[in-house]
Amino acid sequence: MNADHTTASVPSVLGPIVDVCADLYRLGWAENHAGNLSYRLTDAELACFPPSDGTRGARFESPFPDLAGASFLVTAAGSPFRLLVKDPTRHTGVLTVSADGSAYTVVWGFEDGKRPTSELPAHLRGHQERGKVEPDNRVIMHCHPTNTVALTQVHELDEASMTRTLWASNSESILAIPRGIGLLPWMVCGTDHIGVESAAKLRDSSIVVWASHGVLVAGRSVQAAMGVVESVEKAAKTYLLTRGGERRPIADHQLRELAAAFGIDPPARFLP
Ligand SMILES: [Zn+2]
Repeated sequence: MNADHTTASVPSVLGPIVDVCADLYRLGWAENHAGNLSYRLTDAELACFPPSDGTRGARFESPFPDLAGASFLVTAAGSPFRLLVKDPTRHTGVLTVSADGSAYTVVWGFEDGKRPTSELPAHLRGHQERGKVEPDNRVIMHCHPTNTVALTQVHELDEASMTRTLWASNSESILAIPRGIGLLPWMVCGTDHIGVESAAKLRDSSIVVWASHGVLVAGRSVQAAMGVVESVEKAAKTYLLTRGGERRPIADHQLRELAAAFGIDPPARFLP
């Protein structure tokens, strides 16, 4: 992390998270207010944050009993990643889930009245369900990788078919997503419904593609989660760049017309 990202009072666990948010912004996958991230803190990492007065928090619409007592570093609602990297104490925060899983308390951050991302239910459901198959999972991340979103607008919306397309686009794709992708049809974002559907998909795959929107990805670290998104996005881009049937290049006879019009004598091996 660059020294100007934070002050000395910010715990070091924020470093890789701020870095990945900066990368997502620079890659164009977290434009405007897009993108959110949650990281499950270890007890030792939580201890690095100064204790709060416990006066801020909220109740969940539906409880998360499996996450009782767990603490998360979460990006704030409406906080552009472009600004987050310059002021993480305002645009991120730490929350702890209550002992019965029905509410959370803010431990640190979310300064100036900021609140956790509106996708918090989707994140917590993701942690809850992914944790059942991958106990070491720590990260749930959402972003808008451009080519992956474009793929959902031209490709058959079928999980198996899209996975095969991605695998067939790069030799290392099947290594990056050996369990394939989860795929959800278009639905309203920011709701518990998309959170429930995504969490169910995260039991089978580390990445869920939301049609015409983006991805929700899980990982043991921010680097692991980012790596999966990069691989899917690269395969999607390669597929889109090589998709046939629509190209209308300049025909040979048109090139000859151009050559004649401008007095060019192209070598015969290039234009018979
Ligand atoms: Zn989004």
